[in-house]
Amino acid sequence: MTQNRYDVIVIGGGHAGTEAAAAAARMGARTLLLTHRIDTIGEMSCNPAIGGLGKGHLVTEVDALDGLMGRAADQAGIHFKMLNASKGPAVRGPRAQADRVLYKASIQSLLAETANLTIRAAAVEDIETDAAGALNAVVLADGTRLACGAAVLTTGTFLRGLMHVGEAQTEGGRVGEAAAQGLSAALARLNLPLGRLKTGTPPRLDKRSIDWASLPEDRGDPIPTPFSRLTEAITTPQIECRVTGTTQATHDLIRANLHRSPMYAGRIAGPGPRYCPSIEDKVVRFAERDRHQIFLEPEGLDDDTIYPNGISTSLPADVQARIVASIPGLEHARILRPGYAVEYDFVDPRALAATLELRAVPRLFLAGQINGTTGYEEAAAQGLLAGVNAARRAAGSAGVIVDRAEAYLGVMIDDLTTQGVTEPYRMFTSRAEYRLSLRAGNADLRLTARGLDWGCVGQRRETAFRAREAAIAAALEAAIATPLSPEKLAAHGIIVNRDGRKRSALDVMALPGVAPAALEAAFPFLRDLSPDVCDELQTRARYAGYLGRQEADIRAFRREENIALPADLDFRQVGGLSNEMRQRLDTARPATLGAATRLPGITPAALTALMAHLRTTRAPPRAE
Ligand code: FAD
Repeated sequence: MTQNRYDVIVIGGGHAGTEAAAAAARMGARTLLLTHRIDTIGEMSCNPAIGGLGKGHLVTEVDALDGLMGRAADQAGIHFKMLNASKGPAVRGPRAQADRVLYKASIQSLLAETANLTIRAAAVEDIETDAAGALNAVVLADGTRLACGAAVLTTGTFLRGLMHVGEAQTEGGRVGEAAAQGLSAALARLNLPLGRLKTGTPPRLDKRSIDWASLPEDRGDPIPTPFSRLTEAITTPQIECRVTGTTQATHDLIRANLHRSPMYAGRIAGPGPRYCPSIEDKVVRFAERDRHQIFLEPEGLDDDTIYPNGISTSLPADVQARIVASIPGLEHARILRPGYAVEYDFVDPRALAATLELRAVPRLFLAGQINGTTGYEEAAAQGLLAGVNAARRAAGSAGVIVDRAEAYLGVMIDDLTTQGVTEPYRMFTSRAEYRLSLRAGNADLRLTARGLDWGCVGQRRETAFRAREAAIAAALEAAIATPLSPEKLAAHGIIVNRDGRKRSALDVMALPGVAPAALEAAFPFLRDLSPDVCDELQTRARYAGYLGRQEADIRAFRREENIALPADLDFRQVGGLSNEMRQRLDTARPATLGAATRLPGITPAALTALMAHLRTTRAPPRAE
């Protein structure tokens, strides 16, 4: 039997696993990435697209912490679009469709150049714990035991994965790949709360059989915005997408065949993603609608495969063929691969601390779809934090957490660990209560300094960050330095109340309808700013009033967030708690008073009792 030891072992080479492995290695941990197949590292199991509303924010946060996803998407992106471009900067969602081959190649090459990282193809079958219940090794299918200081489990849709196409069921994590069976049993043996979820994907079509020219075009942005602060410009050629939609005939066909859908026939137990529903779900849930839009998205530059975004389905293949033929432009479309649904095990994320470490199995971290999320971006962001914390754990340092006021990553982890999931969780801007402060454009300003403190940010990123931070600070200083009187502003065509009050550049930038030329004439320093720095000033000017109020809200939030609840707090000792409240708190074991307030079903009376108890005891410092 081979024996070996690593600081951190990451299981799974998907979006969570690659970020976790790269982050742990950047932290200096001797890291091993174990995954079924090396050639599928970075595979996009479903839609070859990165970003979107809320998801794009997560990509920029991963990038701010020196992760891989943003850089890979920039190298592989073939159709960039800023979603919500007409809305405020806080809710704009960068999205790019990627060439799936280029994306995978880019992730694999970024991993290849990562120091401290070894990659091996192997299936992990078991988790070994010590007498105290903490992880100390992982065991491979061939019996090899690999000891480690910490491990990150990122098995995606593979745990007891079961794929469905109509009446047919096949074991597998995604098409062409075997499921992970043994590991589920190991997690059950560790008494982890397992549940079942499902997700699905549409049939893939051959572009050459589509009446492409007859369909309206969906254009990408003329100047693509990169995700990464390290990308100067997008140089990959850009392609066009087309748009079509379902018809009444499509809906009739689906209704007539619902009994053959594994979901509606009761063969799938786990709930699917509410915000990425199958076409059969959409037709049932939105019965009043007579059309659902479908984006026809090429999967690559040299690839005739088309991803019809909007018709994910697990109906039988013959019904899928008739559905496709009922859609304008697709009358003669050839299906290259039928759509399917996959059901898989996940672990109730309430079993995790906010560091993504399992409370019941110290040194074992979970990230990605295994925690009940859906989507590459959600997986990547969790993976990065889990990788950082696994490396810290292996080195004997305290875990780090990101809170709801700092990042979408913090919102997601707090939602998962305090609320749990009843369906696959996806990110949206509406989930973040402090979203005015959490723009995609300021992810580096929010997070890179933290990443530098933790040790997961490299030299190149640090240099770029320091330069941008300094440029913004200098611009802000200049923007308030030389205010002008209403008369002087009027001389440049900028009309404000003649109240004798001088206005700074920042004040004037907040006003609607001021022509850029007039603004630059009044405040010439603006001419020397880069468009990026100018955008940042403009946004701060526009949001100034709201941000002041939001900062007060954040201070109030942090007051509760900074009150730690001891990890071993015995809730039976807290006077005035009902049995029900005691049970809820004991199961969830919130790390802070703030987290306790967000637990479902916790009453104000219970929180008052908890606060009274804390006032009489001394709480140890919480995770950094
Ligand atoms: P994955 O990307 O699944 O990676 C898991 C990795 O772990 C794989 O490389 C696997 O080989 C490896 N692995 C698993 N078990 C073991 C083991 N025991 N030993 C070694 N290696 C192991 N997302 C959406 O947002 N919207 C959608 O509509 C959508 N539809 C989907 C449809 C399908 C059919 C599938 C399969 C996925 C879909 N997704 C969708 C989900 C998206 O693919 C995932 O959210 C994302 O890939 C999760 O990343 P991950 O890193 O958690 O897992």
